[in-house]
Amino acid sequence: LVRLKGVTKKFGDMTALDNLTLDIARGEFVTFLGPSGCGKSTTLRILGGFERPTSGSVILNGEDVTLQPPEKRQVNMVFQDYALFPHMTVRQNISFGLELKGMDKKSIRQRQDEIMSFLELDTYGDRYPAQLSGGQRQRVALARALAPDPALLLLDEPLGALDAKLRGQVQQELKSIQRRTNKTFFFVTHDQEEALTMSDRVVVMNKGRVEQDGTPEELYFHPASRFVAEFIGETN
Ligand code: ATP
Ligand code: MG
Repeated sequence: LVRLKGVTKKFGDMTALDNLTLDIARGEFVTFLGPSGCGKSTTLRILGGFERPTSGSVILNGEDVTLQPPEKRQVNMVFQDYALFPHMTVRQNISFGLELKGMDKKSIRQRQDEIMSFLELDTYGDRYPAQLSGGQRQRVALARALAPDPALLLLDEPLGALDAKLRGQVQQELKSIQRRTNKTFFFVTHDQEEALTMSDRVVVMNKGRVEQDGTPEELYFHPASRFVAEFIGETN
């Protein structure tokens, strides 16, 4: 579904991504793990079309989309702080992207109901984000991103704002949503425990390069480098 081919991104003379090559198959849940500043968000922004690579290309569904703007791509993003529209209700937050897509009122209503019931948000439709708990906001952000039915969902440390208990709960929820929708999730975190418990496949990044790409077991028992061993071994 997704192919990053030799993607390099420079900011001035700083290299944020160094010849990154990565494939993601349809329906995969891939976690992108690495320390602060290793280029995780930059990779997501390039996939989402918010940023252009200095060189290399982005292939989506076999099509080169490197120069395509975000609204032309079948990709949606959930941001770390959720970035919900504070002046809009839950319903309005969800319909925003559908209106942009030019969907008619009746279909929008239908899709809203569907996604709200799917994420158990039915009773919160008329509330504003400020009237919701952290976990509920997180589900609204997810509902808003899933509503237009993107092929690929990018999640940039979406659980960072949650307390430990809620975090564990939402981790399970996210996994089950991914399984039920069979969508492709690209999940970013700097938390090694989260990466190991949540994913079938983890890509470990260091300084703009892939250090290792494998299953949690492979990373844990057969780290490819000292960096991976030490990073995985660290506790938060
Ligand atoms: P974190 O875990 O802290 O979110 P990250 O892995 O998401 O880190 P990025 O945001 O991708 O890191 O940044 C990678 C590098 O590129 C960092 O050194 C950062 O300072 C730099 N960088 C990112 N965006 C810009 C920008 N717009 N201008 C200049 N430098 C940038
Ligand atoms: Mg980041």
